[in-house]
Amino acid sequence: MRFLTDLKLPSKVIVCEVAPRDGFQAEKQWIPTEHKVAIIKKLAATGIQIIEITSFVHPKAIPQLKDAEEVVRQSLELTGVKFRALVPNVRGAQRAIDAGIKKIKLMLSASDSHSLSNANCLTREAMDGFAPIIDLAEKHSVEISGSISVAFGCPFEGEIPIDRLNSIIKRYIQYGIKEISLADSTGMANPRQVYNTVGELRNNFPDVIFTMHLHNTRGMAIANAFAAMQQSIIQFDSSITGLGGCPYAPGATGNVATEDLVHAFSEMGIETGINLETLINVAKEVKQIIGHDGGSFILKAGPRSQLHVAPKSQQKLG
Ligand code: ZN
Repeated sequence: MRFLTDLKLPSKVIVCEVAPRDGFQAEKQWIPTEHKVAIIKKLAATGIQIIEITSFVHPKAIPQLKDAEEVVRQSLELTGVKFRALVPNVRGAQRAIDAGIKKIKLMLSASDSHSLSNANCLTREAMDGFAPIIDLAEKHSVEISGSISVAFGCPFEGEIPIDRLNSIIKRYIQYGIKEISLADSTGMANPRQVYNTVGELRNNFPDVIFTMHLHNTRGMAIANAFAAMQQSIIQFDSSITGLGGCPYAPGATGNVATEDLVHAFSEMGIETGINLETLINVAKEVKQIIGHDGGSFILKAGPRSQLHVAPKSQQKLG
């Protein structure tokens, strides 16, 4: 369809799949390692270019991810896809590097309350704790990205002042980190807020590459992604079937479903490099393996392109 006037949208975006970390960590029932690896391989086959494969968190903190090394070892042979793993501390970074990970992601919370319940330390202390991890990663030529949880609202404190985000990003930059994920971990963002906040951050830090990590807790994730695109953001995290949650944020549900987000992009003519049909089939398989989905719309309704036969009753009588 062609229009006389049109929205300003990117021609291409990058979608990073986070279910193997953000999704699986929220699952109570043990997912066997071979199932995790099988899902990762299927995801890679859809054309997804980046997968957040696991977290090297202490096995006692999140037992579901205690097989992080094994998952990485069995997935590294895949070509055409980049893997990154979340690391919460130096011990985790060492484990990730030993397993062959080439990119790590650091994580902290924008608010002290969320930081205390998530990492048992203040935001400032979490930031200080990054120094030895970064030293280790640099020594092994491992790439590093940063992330800010609850960047658009904290379930305990509410609003996050923009100055707080500014100072966290400044410290990331001092550490030499230029890729930062802004996480709406409990789905508190709205499109206007995303537009304004991201606009201001892009203006303050023009050299930083921002990724949006949007949970769909209140059904606003795609609208928020759309608002972020209006500020030239082209990197998005999502989770197959919408799996996920936040173990430290009461009531939070998963990330926006990858098939929902890719479907929305595809309908708007925005390239993702991902085959939607294959992706939807993988989503169906993941739902079977895990035993449920995370609120995916496309799994329920099917893609828009899938038209239905008009019911006979519509034909005029006589
Ligand atoms: Zn998340």
